[in-house]
Order: sequence, then structure tokens, then C-alpha cells
Amino acid sequence: MQVEKPQIREELLIDLIAPHKVPLENCPALILNADYRPLSYFPLSIWPWQDAVKAIFRDTVTVIEEYDRYIHSPTTEFKLPSVIALKEYMRVSENPAFTRFNVFLRDCWHCQYCAAPFKTHQLTFDHVIPRSRGGRTSWDNIVSACKPCNTRKGSKLPHDCGMHPMTAPREPSLFELQETGRRFPPHFLHESWGDFLYWDSELEA
Ligand SMILES: [Zn+2]
Repeated sequence: MQVEKPQIREELLIDLIAPHKVPLENCPALILNADYRPLSYFPLSIWPWQDAVKAIFRDTVTVIEEYDRYIHSPTTEFKLPSVIALKEYMRVSENPAFTRFNVFLRDCWHCQYCAAPFKTHQLTFDHVIPRSRGGRTSWDNIVSACKPCNTRKGSKLPHDCGMHPMTAPREPSLFELQETGRRFPPHFLHESWGDFLYWDSELEA
């Protein structure tokens, strides 16, 4: 049976009783899986407030925490969600995607040759066994490298130039990537998210 739901129109939701005049764009919701763990740590799984509100009306999520501000629809008024959990468990893939980003994440944004940390735009990736020597573009042959190291190594084999990666490259598990990602918190963390992100590290501290 189709339940009558309030119509969602963003322009109507912008009517605020706001204690803090923070732009709504800065009020995303942390999205948890049905087991109350973030869908992803890095990048952190957050939804823009519009998507969070739509999910509430679709009844696919449970609101766990709220911002201290109200939003209006034509028929209701409620607090803006800051943490929501999926009602149905979403299966997460067991194998991480082989992407440049995930390679940098696996290597913690450190050049695998000079061991220095870099920003994403300063890094490139290096074929440990060069492609010209039959090396493949795969988890076990690709490492993060700064541009000077990448240039220095060129198309030489590791033992020819004495440049060996700090850590032998391999495919990380999704768990390992998640754990690494937790060390790189995003720029914005609402206080209500802490319980779902860092409880164990706080207990360890
Ligand atoms: Zn380097």
C-alpha cells in the first residue's frame, strides 16, 4: 500500500529555524550501514542533507543523531539528521577497487622509494617492474611514487638501479584500506559522528 508521504521540495525545506546560521550544505549526514558502522571511512560516507532527508521520507534509514536545527516540509517539521543508518544491510564488496586513489591510500600517500609523504597531486604511480620489461598494471606491481623518484627510476628494474619499494606491493583487503583511511579524518566532522567513528581509538588512547 502506498503511504502518503509529504512532498519534498528543496526550496520548501530551506525555511529554517536555525540557532546557527551554518549553510545547509555544511550539514551532511554520516551514513552508517545497518550494522552501525560507516559504509566507508575514507572517503567518509556522508550524504548531503537533501539525500538524507529524502531517505528518511522513503523510510530506508533510521535517524540516529540530529543537528540542533529544524527543517520544514509543507506538512512536517523535524530536526536535520546528522547520523543515519540504513535499515537494510548493504553488502560491501570484499575486494577494493584498483584505482589510483586506493593505491595512494594503501601506501598512505608516501613515496615508496624515498619514504616521504606527499599530497595527491604530487604523487604518481610507478611500475616496479616497468611495462617495457613486461610488468603489469596491477596491485602487486604498482606503487605510489613522487615524481622525482619516478623519473629517477625510469624504466629500470629495481635491482639495476637499487630502488626497491619500502613495502612489497600487494592487493590490500578492504578492511586494511578502511583502517588506513581512519587515520585521515575528513576536514569536517560533526561532534555527533565521533561515537561512530572513533570509539575504539578513544578507548585505546
Ligand atoms: Zn620519492
